[in-house]
Amino acid sequence: MIEEDRMEIFLGSMDSGNSEFLESLGREAREASVPIIRRQTQSALRVLLAALQPEKILEIGCAVGFSAILMCENCGARITTIENYEKRIGPARENFRKAGVEDRVELLFGDAAEILPKLMGTYDFIFMDAAKGQYIHFLPDVLRLLRPGGMLVSDNVLQGGDILESHFAVERRNRTIYKRMREYLYEITHRDDLATTILPVGDGLALTVKKG
Ligand code: SAH
Ligand code: MG
Repeated sequence: MIEEDRMEIFLGSMDSGNSEFLESLGREAREASVPIIRRQTQSALRVLLAALQPEKILEIGCAVGFSAILMCENCGARITTIENYEKRIGPARENFRKAGVEDRVELLFGDAAEILPKLMGTYDFIFMDAAKGQYIHFLPDVLRLLRPGGMLVSDNVLQGGDILESHFAVERRNRTIYKRMREYLYEITHRDDLATTILPVGDGLALTVKKG
């Protein structure tokens, strides 16, 4: 939509940007079609981290490390991040080294569905940015791992606007994801132990606090 594009350009002109390294990593990733969080999502994360100052972060969906490095640049946290696509592990580690954050980031290679149940302790901040159809399945472990008062940020929850459409308007191959994302959004907005707001930022960002 034209109006949306204009809004994005306007907001982009107000963006403070990232370190030179991260900006060039972002350009490289976009050229190679490697997924990274959108501009407005980056900006929202920077503000949330500045406000919350988490010490321990868990990320689900590392890709080549763009968002993990952004989080390192905007708070002093240690980050555990999970990625199951083998081709991205080497580049991610290399990027952590180049950004000088390899001591603060632990990259776990494997399916989050298998890794999450094995994690212990708690995290102050969790960034969910993996396969959208899996969020609902990850949720029990994610909430176990989130400390009371901690924040869960879920990306891509509006699925390019698909989430608004009726079930029948959604392409068949996207229907399962659609149904599961609706379930996920219902769950995080209706539980008494959670407070959630869904923001139309980037591809849709849900902010959830586990009540203390
Ligand atoms: N957060 C990254 C982008 C992540 S894209 C950034 O902004 O820089 C989503 C990533 O999640 C992809 O690399 C994909 O391979 C990974 N992923 C998807 N499902 C997963 C799963 N079940 N376990 C671990 N990683 C998964
Ligand atoms: Mg994403």
